[in-house]
Amino acid sequence: MGLIAGIMFQDITTLLLAPNAFKDTIDLFVERYKNKNISVVAGIEARGFIFGPPIALAIGAKFVPLRKPRKLPGEVMSEEYILEYGSDCLEMHIGAVEQGERALVVDDLIATGGTLCAAMKLLERAGAEVVECACLIELPDLKGRERLNGKPLYVLVESH
Ligand code: 5GP
Repeated sequence: MGLIAGIMFQDITTLLLAPNAFKDTIDLFVERYKNKNISVVAGIEARGFIFGPPIALAIGAKFVPLRKPRKLPGEVMSEEYILEYGSDCLEMHIGAVEQGERALVVDDLIATGGTLCAAMKLLERAGAEVVECACLIELPDLKGRERLNGKPLYVLVESH
C-alpha cells in the first residue's frame, strides 16, 4: 500500500486480522526474551504499542510507552532525532524506568534506525541497560542496523 508516491509502506495491520499468525509472532519474541531477566519492555508509538504489551505481559516485565511529543501527561524526558525531512522526538515518563533495569525496545519496523536510536538513548539516559531491539520487519537496504552502535537487533522478516 503506497501512502506517498514512490514509497512502499509495510502494513502490519493485516497480520492482526489473523489471530494465529499474530499469536505465533508474539510467541517467537516471548521464546527469545523469557528468562533473560528483562524488567522493561519499551514500545515505540504507535505500532510498538501493539506488539510490546503482549510480550511484556508474557515475560513478566512492565510496559513503558515511548511517545510522540506532548502526549504523556507526566513529567518527561525527550530525545530528538533527525528524519530525512526535518526532525521528530520521542518522550518517556521520568521515573518509569529505574537505574540498572534491563530493557527491551520493541517496534514494528526499522527503516533508517533513527527511531530505535532515540529510544535507546532515552532508556540509557534513565540508567537502563538496553538488552536488544526487536522489530517484526527490517528494511536492510537502508542500513538502519548500522546506526544502533553495535546494539543487537532481532527481526523476524527482511524486506528488500
Ligand atoms: P526509522 O526511524 O527506522 O527510519 O523508521 C522507523 C519508524 O517509522 C518506526 O516507528 C515505524 O513504525 C515507522 N515506519 C517507517 N516506515 C514504515 C513502514 O513502511 N511501515 C510501517 N509499519 N512503519 C514504518
